Amino acid sequence: MITASPVTRLSSPSTDWRELWRHAITNATELLEMLGLDDLADRLPPADAGFALRVPRGFVARMRHGDPRDPLLLQVLPQLAELDEVPGFVADAVGDMASREARGVLHKYQGRALLIASGSCAINCRYCFRRHFPYGDEMAAAGQWRQALAHVRQDPSINELILSGGDPLALSTGKLEELGRGLADIPHVTRLRIHSRLPVVLPERIDAAFTDWLAALPLQKVVVLHANHTNEFDVSVDAACARLREAGATLLNQSVLLRGVNDEAGALAALSERMFAAGVLPYYLHQLDRVQGAAHFEVDDARALALMEQLRGRLPGYLVPKLVREVGGDPSKRPL
Ligand SMILES: *Cc1c(COP(=O)(O)O)cnc(C)c1O
Ligand code: SF4
Repeated sequence: MITASPVTRLSSPSTDWRELWRHAITNATELLEMLGLDDLADRLPPADAGFALRVPRGFVARMRHGDPRDPLLLQVLPQLAELDEVPGFVADAVGDMASREARGVLHKYQGRALLIASGSCAINCRYCFRRHFPYGDEMAAAGQWRQALAHVRQDPSINELILSGGDPLALSTGKLEELGRGLADIPHVTRLRIHSRLPVVLPERIDAAFTDWLAALPLQKVVVLHANHTNEFDVSVDAACARLREAGATLLNQSVLLRGVNDEAGALAALSERMFAAGVLPYYLHQLDRVQGAAHFEVDDARALALMEQLRGRLPGYLVPKLVREVGGDPSKRPL
């Protein structure tokens, strides 16, 4: 029988995000025990299939107890299928990540530059290209930022700076303040965009120190969240979204289309409705990067397009995300 998780047992009393980060679940057997799924333990791949399990306890608390098909669990639990070699699914699915990292800044699209601000994530998503590039925190070194900002400073066509990663909100607020000061003398940058999964998976990250910093920035602010299923939202996420909006941020969400997680029109519609209730508009629905170990998540293009058609039939236009794929060398995300 499927019952609600006993939240009191799963959550930690602390609200300091760094402490919550440190106390994330990193052991698959322990995770299965917490969910009453002990009998799945003998179907775990050896050594987490080469990509550590990591999931904050607050996210675990939103999983359904006793349900091996839970859409949140499937995003984080190592599976035997990850060991399958599938043609076309490669370690470096999105271009040479290593060299991207070395430069620290990616300026491929007109008007906006993307800063690789941090390598670490509070959650390890099984479908992510990061599984083959488990970067540490070194990316946030001040020297690297100086170089990246120098590039932005000398190019007046850049009016939007995007912080991406990994997860840029893994950085301390002090580190972000440093970046804000670096931006102060670049008048052509008028927008700051932050791509982060933390407001959803560790909403305590959106604390007063952070929102004070964000609110005081003399820029337009956009925060692009990453949620794939309606169950990822709860009151703590609603509260984090409210704090971000109070700090002046426009909230958008990107999702990845994932077989078994959100590849039904009903699930996608529910996600859009739920995020809008939290003040968030859908932005992109990404076709999966064809990364080794993630083939079992893939939804083929024909089915993806059919899902979009169904979504348009049941939602207002502003709640329908754009279905896109990232193709190396393109001047933008490619619409399907
Ligand atoms: C995805 C991406 C962006 C942002 O693209 P938008 O379509 O503006 O969301 C910017 N730069 C790079 C290199 C990207 O990969
Ligand atoms: S970069 Fe995003 S999708 Fe990838 S593991 Fe980190 S949070 Fe998950």
